[in-house]
Amino acid sequence: LFVTFEGIDGAGKSTHIAGLADAFRSAGRTVTLTREPGGTPLAEKLRALVLNDPMDPLCEALLMFAARRHHLLEVIEPALARGEVVLCDRFTDATFAYQGYGRGFDLSVLGSLEQWVQHTGQDGQPLRQPDLTVWFDLPPEVAAQRLSQARSPDRFEALPTEFFARVAHGYGQRMAGDPQRFARISANQPVEAVWQEVQSVFRLRGWI
Ligand code: C5P
Repeated sequence: LFVTFEGIDGAGKSTHIAGLADAFRSAGRTVTLTREPGGTPLAEKLRALVLNDPMDPLCEALLMFAARRHHLLEVIEPALARGEVVLCDRFTDATFAYQGYGRGFDLSVLGSLEQWVQHTGQDGQPLRQPDLTVWFDLPPEVAAQRLSQARSPDRFEALPTEFFARVAHGYGQRMAGDPQRFARISANQPVEAVWQEVQSVFRLRGWI
C-alpha cells in the first residue's frame, strides 16, 4: 500500500503522518515512513541542494525527479514488494504543484519526466502511482500566518503568499484530474479535528 501526503507548507502533514504510522503498526502492518525530496542518502543530498541553492525551474525539476527515481528504486519499490505500507511525505503531485503551478514550469515536460521516472516495471505495465494521496488543503493566508510563527524557512517557504496560492490551486487541479486517488482534508481546523478526518479516511477503507 502506497500512500502519499500533500499540501502547502504549514498544513501540518508531518504530525498526522507520524500518527498514521502508529495506527498502521497497531493494526499489525510494517510501515516504511519516508519523504521527498529525500528518502535515501543520495536523495537527501539532492534535497539539500534544491532547497538551498537558487536555480532555474528546469534544473529544479530534474533534481526533484532524479531524487525521486533513486528513492523509488532503493526504498519505495522494495518496501512495496515486501508487502509493507509506504507512507511518503510528498511525491510527484508536489512537483506539479510547486515547480509546475507555483513556478510556472511546463506541465507537459513534468508529465514526460513522470513517465520516465515512475516506470519501474516491465514494458506495458502501468506507472507506479500512489494508491491514495491525502491532500491537506489549507488557505494560503492561513499557511503564511502559521509559518511566520514557526521554524526558519527554506527558500521555498520564504516565498510570498501568491506563490502558495498558485501551489494550492495546483493541488486542486491535480485532484480534479484524478479524483479517485485523492482524499481532501480540510486542514483549516484545530489539529484534533484534522486528525479525526484523517483517521476516518483510513478507517473507511478498513486499513487501520
Ligand atoms: O514538506 P517539506 O517541508 O519537507 O518540503 C520541503 C520544501 O520543499 C518545502 O518548502 C516545499 O515547498 C519544497 N518542495 C518543492 N517542490 C517539491 C517538493 C517540495 O518546492 N516538489
